[in-house]
Amino acid sequence: MPELDTLLLKEIEDLSQKDLLWKPRTFEGPSDAHSMVEGRKVLIFCSNNYLGLSNHPSLKEAAIRAVQTHGAGTGSVRPIAGTMDLHIELEKTIARFKRTEDSIYFQTGFAANAGGIPQLMGEGDLAISDELNHGSIIDGVRLTKAERAIYKHANMDDLARVLEEASKKSSYKRIWIITDGVFSMDGDIAPLDRISTLANAYGAYVYVDDAHGDGVLGSHGRGIVDHFKLEGKIEADMGTFSKAFGVVGGTIAGSATLAKYLRNKARSWLLTGSAPPATAAACIASLQLLEKDDTLVKKLWENTKYFKAKMKELGFDTGNSQSPITPVMCGESSVAKRLADELWEGGVYAVPIVFPMVARDKARIRAMINASHSREDLDFAVAAFEKAGRKLGLVK
Ligand code: PMP
Repeated sequence: MPELDTLLLKEIEDLSQKDLLWKPRTFEGPSDAHSMVEGRKVLIFCSNNYLGLSNHPSLKEAAIRAVQTHGAGTGSVRPIAGTMDLHIELEKTIARFKRTEDSIYFQTGFAANAGGIPQLMGEGDLAISDELNHGSIIDGVRLTKAERAIYKHANMDDLARVLEEASKKSSYKRIWIITDGVFSMDGDIAPLDRISTLANAYGAYVYVDDAHGDGVLGSHGRGIVDHFKLEGKIEADMGTFSKAFGVVGGTIAGSATLAKYLRNKARSWLLTGSAPPATAAACIASLQLLEKDDTLVKKLWENTKYFKAKMKELGFDTGNSQSPITPVMCGESSVAKRLADELWEGGVYAVPIVFPMVARDKARIRAMINASHSREDLDFAVAAFEKAGRKLGLVK
């Protein structure tokens, strides 16, 4: 039998030849508007730290305090000896913020999707998913025993078609529609109002993954449900703490019964060590900060509008984004990669998004706007895009 490493190296070589090998750059300090990355201070234009909360004094103080009062770890899974008062307070705070009855907090958003979805839909059910949903939803759906159907991206006619076909079969116990709130590669917002209307018409339930809408959409960053004024109408409002909220962790907010059910069924919650006290405390601090003050959310949107307008003026194609996720379309993968290299040389860290994450001819730089970018930072980035874009023939 060949050595395991020989087999694995062959696969790594294959990835490398297809240009699919990740070579993550290393941050040598906090994630901020400007960070030390591999020995250079660069402007960060690719982080999901939308509100700049990951290095915020209130969150850091809360984390330090929790280490002093509760220790470094919990030593157990949540159902045995790993539930601390901080976890309970966090779940209550999420529910208050999301205006739901209750919520459940997982270690990551990935764990929420991979553990929550297979319990909410099972044998005899139908899971209907947008074709561009996030990989963690795809994996969650793969773990269900439910039948699966895909609808064309954000296409309500196609969703209606799938629902109509399902209703003719009429043997499903439950039908769930699952969608990203904000789509992570294009920055467009799911038409959740129309999805909810269709769900009502066909007696289906809705599961929304608001990873990129949390802290971004709605009043005080309450997310997509608040944005569309759908409070009480969406059965499962999933989110993450790893992006705008600046920490880490996943959540599903909904009815008290839904949270209780998942606390007894979701294996990625039941069978894994619980979040350290510092993490739970920092998550609480981030929500409390947003509840009190929406300055950062407003600043994020001001920055977003400013950057998009400047890029459009220059002639860049920034796609159909309706959010701070700003794709700068390049076409070929090689062009996106060269643009990223030029930006890096110019002091801006932005990453190329290429096939298979997006279609072969839709390679792009995904510019991520942050509330802690100053006007000077945005102008600096625009100038770097302009210089590199001219060199590569993306703009005149
Ligand atoms: N859903 C979406 C849409 C995401 O973009 C991500 C993060 N990449 C996740 C879920 C997973 O969230 P987390 O980082 O908390 O695991």
